Amino acid sequence: MNSEESILARLAEVEGASRALEESPAQRRALTERVTGFADQMLDGLAERAVWSDEPGARDELLTLGIPEQPADLDQVMDLVAREIDGPGLQPASGGHLGYIAGGGIYASALGDYIAAVTNRYSGVHYAGPGAVHVENLLLRWLCGVVGYPAEALGTLTSGGSMANLIAIVTARDARAVRAVEVERSVIYLTAQTHHCVLKAITIAGLAEAPVHFVPMDANYRMDARALAQQVEADRAAGLRPFLLVASAGTTDAGALDPLDELAQVAEREDLWYHVDAAYGGVFMLVESMRACMRGIERADSIVLDPHKGLFVAYGSGALLVRDPALLRASYGLRAAYLQDAPDTLDEPSPADLSPELTRHFRGLRLWLPLQVHGVARYRAALEEKVLLCNLFYRRVQELGFEVGPKPDLSVALFRWVPPDGTDADEFNRRLLGAILDDGRVFLSSTTIDGVFWIRVAVLCFRSHRDRIDAVLEVLERETRSH
Ligand SMILES: *Cc1c(COP(=O)(O)O)cnc(C)c1O
Repeated sequence: MNSEESILARLAEVEGASRALEESPAQRRALTERVTGFADQMLDGLAERAVWSDEPGARDELLTLGIPEQPADLDQVMDLVAREIDGPGLQPASGGHLGYIAGGGIYASALGDYIAAVTNRYSGVHYAGPGAVHVENLLLRWLCGVVGYPAEALGTLTSGGSMANLIAIVTARDARAVRAVEVERSVIYLTAQTHHCVLKAITIAGLAEAPVHFVPMDANYRMDARALAQQVEADRAAGLRPFLLVASAGTTDAGALDPLDELAQVAEREDLWYHVDAAYGGVFMLVESMRACMRGIERADSIVLDPHKGLFVAYGSGALLVRDPALLRASYGLRAAYLQDAPDTLDEPSPADLSPELTRHFRGLRLWLPLQVHGVARYRAALEEKVLLCNLFYRRVQELGFEVGPKPDLSVALFRWVPPDGTDADEFNRRLLGAILDDGRVFLSSTTIDGVFWIRVAVLCFRSHRDRIDAVLEVLERETRSH
């Protein structure tokens, strides 16, 4: 059965198919041409294409193809990519994506992924991929510099903001030694506008039983620092143990900036771990004129950024920055015997020692390559442009007679039409949103705050320019002219 002869015989049978996994140069070129051909067509048609398609997509076609035992027909595969994968739903690469928090998809970022995938460089430990680790740590140190962190700060690149927040909250829990028996009295402070991934993270981190106190906000949906201080004091008096404060540097709903400096003061005085979720807004610190409104962020113990939002890379890129990386290491720096050949390099830490991931996407390149190709100045200009566009929209929409939310701190604005004839406003705005999507040039989303339905404009896609804002205003004027 397992004679050497039978092994050799079977080897001879399987080796041909196994070797065919390595494409020949000609096959490589053909495959690459098809894929880049699709990408060119998609990108060249993007400006004219509707941002939203409510065609449900033919799932059956994908199912029929299934996962084939033998090579599928490449034309059929690429046709399915174009029609069924890139067709239905929201087109997030479009400059008309002004909903949720828009993403990126800068072309050089895809090519960074391409290099990362072709080389499959291992970015987990320095020993195996020193260049990969240098790139990731270089990016993290650059981001630390952007937010005003000291030189020794570091962090980890993650798949997104949710993971980065989770890693931060586990670090805070461990750094403040919140043991299981103390969870019930260890208080966490946030607001009703804190991103829901923070609540998920609290549960995943084993803190589901911790008291979560929602601090009151001012009229601009910013955390009220005085109310926080009073709440902490009351909690201490009641025998509780305040431990974690989560501020938002740009809430997703309304784009509001919590008063970071005032909150830092409370956190320091009360010895709270101060975490700032800046997944949406943090990168606006690249714009000189925006730095003042974020003052105090550098006093945080941990900060989350989301390069797949404001640094325009494709989905799958978040970042956690920590003022004292030794605390990250304390939570995640666990090694196994089989990694004994890889020495721990303290001056150039390995990502695997600062995060729950071991084998991970070399996600640094997708951020590093576009920054090299374009230079930071273009990013600064693009981010400033988004703020200006939002401010322009905020003025113009009021001139059209719309009610608006708070003056935008960053690049999100809320607005709604209140029909003078007394028809139900929420119902009207729901229909108005439908008309905006039907128009196809822009995609907007809505939210409900304090029971009121608002439509949101969130400008962050690098492809969003003035023509798209004009398109929104044109639809709004058309749809409300007779009301
Ligand atoms: C987008 C966002 C998140 C979640 O990040 P993901 O990258 O979607 O996981 C968290 N907080 C804020 C403020 C966000 O805008």
